[in-house]
Amino acid sequence: MHTLTDSTLLKNQSFLDGRFVGTASIDVTNPASGAVIGQVPAFGADEATQAVEAAAAALPGWSARTAKERSTILRNWFNLVMANRQDLATILTSEQGKPLAEALGEIDYAAAYIEFYAEEAKRIAGEMLPSHRTDARLLVLRQPIGVVAAITPWNFPAAMITRKIAPALAAGCTVVVKPALETPLTALALAELAHRAGLPAGTINVLTGDAQAIGGVFTSHPKVRLVGFTGSTAVGKILMAQAATTVKKVALELGGNAPFIVFDDADLDAAVEGAIVSKYRNMGQTCVCTNRFYVQASVHDAFVEKLLARVAELKVGDGFAEGVAQGPLITEDAVRKVEAHIVDATAKGATIRLGGQRHALGRTFFEPTVLTGARADMTLAGEETFGPLAAVFRFETEREAIEAANDTETGLAAYFYARDVGRIFRVMEGLEYGMVGINTGLISTELAPFGGVKESGNSREGSQHGILEFTELKYACLGGL
Ligand code: ADP
Repeated sequence: MHTLTDSTLLKNQSFLDGRFVGTASIDVTNPASGAVIGQVPAFGADEATQAVEAAAAALPGWSARTAKERSTILRNWFNLVMANRQDLATILTSEQGKPLAEALGEIDYAAAYIEFYAEEAKRIAGEMLPSHRTDARLLVLRQPIGVVAAITPWNFPAAMITRKIAPALAAGCTVVVKPALETPLTALALAELAHRAGLPAGTINVLTGDAQAIGGVFTSHPKVRLVGFTGSTAVGKILMAQAATTVKKVALELGGNAPFIVFDDADLDAAVEGAIVSKYRNMGQTCVCTNRFYVQASVHDAFVEKLLARVAELKVGDGFAEGVAQGPLITEDAVRKVEAHIVDATAKGATIRLGGQRHALGRTFFEPTVLTGARADMTLAGEETFGPLAAVFRFETEREAIEAANDTETGLAAYFYARDVGRIFRVMEGLEYGMVGINTGLISTELAPFGGVKESGNSREGSQHGILEFTELKYACLGGL
């Protein structure tokens, strides 16, 4: 582990009911070097039950606070995250691998959710509706849903947590989080800062350990009222089915298969810049990363040449090294998936134009890759590669591009580049996606509702919509007036 200004942010215990507890036993490794950088407890169903009960015990006190009191504590947490951003980013790059500049960007992005929901806590309002009787009044209250259990992935070890728990806490809920086993240290450092910020014992709990056992408690314990999950569609379906037995609300942010369409009226240089950020950010390991580039025939070759020139400039290496744009992939399995997609695509006629191999640095480093001649029958067309592989498809007409883009079970993010205003509206409205980037490859912000349609999920995170997920409506009819 690189040196931290505040080494007490590096935890080797889980955070349960206001205390760090448990025996460190599972190794956390740095994917760039394989070095063990920490250990965390292997908790299971018993500790998950204790954590849920601690959150349930803290719920009445926390939800009874005024919105302004909750807001002030969240604001303290935001300030502490920003004051410790360098250490948090160091922990994040050490366990996840992304370049340090990206890790700093993620910490700022993660903190922005805490800041935004500290403000939004004060704006959850009810309603008084026109009554159906003169002697009655109809009130609608928005109350916290209750205990929220969250399961988060390794690709954004900070932001996927704050995006769920900041709005939950702001709404008056208490939370239990199970971070990904690959990246628990950032989550535990955030818990330490939340504790310092004044969040009462039990309001936030962070548990490390057996995903299935902990997930089993989260989805079955009667005190949990909402299960929030970001991760694969396959696991999301399991959790949704499990949660059905106690009719919990589930808020799912699942996989994508983002198309990126370049029309013949696009600014090609801008499209290439958007392509780089949407494809190669986090080594292609985000659910909004472009998975399929569709380029109109008349600009296909020009776009590909420009893209190749830019991808060739991406420096691969340890995320702490100067100028590095691409770190290691998270695991050996992740590398194997990229390789399998390349083997399948080339067997079916695609051409590798750049990269295509494991990087000379070894381990899980992979060469940024571009291939052309991609077709709908290739595995990469139907499955997210989740790695640094840009696959370029060629198309002729606008209708063909929209149909190809929508030909997937998922619907998270889509991107396109065009200048014609009629086309912009037709394509924006025709894409079956929860989010559309038009002439930009970067759309995530705490100010907008992030989320997908179809098998990509059923909720929104960010903006005022994101906090309403954690509230429940109560209708009260006040009669006898
Ligand atoms: P990824 O491909 O991003 O690792 P996963 O869906 O496998 O996606 O993992 C996302 C999160 O879900 C992680 O925190 C992981 O530990 C957790 N997880 C995986 N399988 C289960 C399960 N059966 N029950 C509960 N959580 C799970």
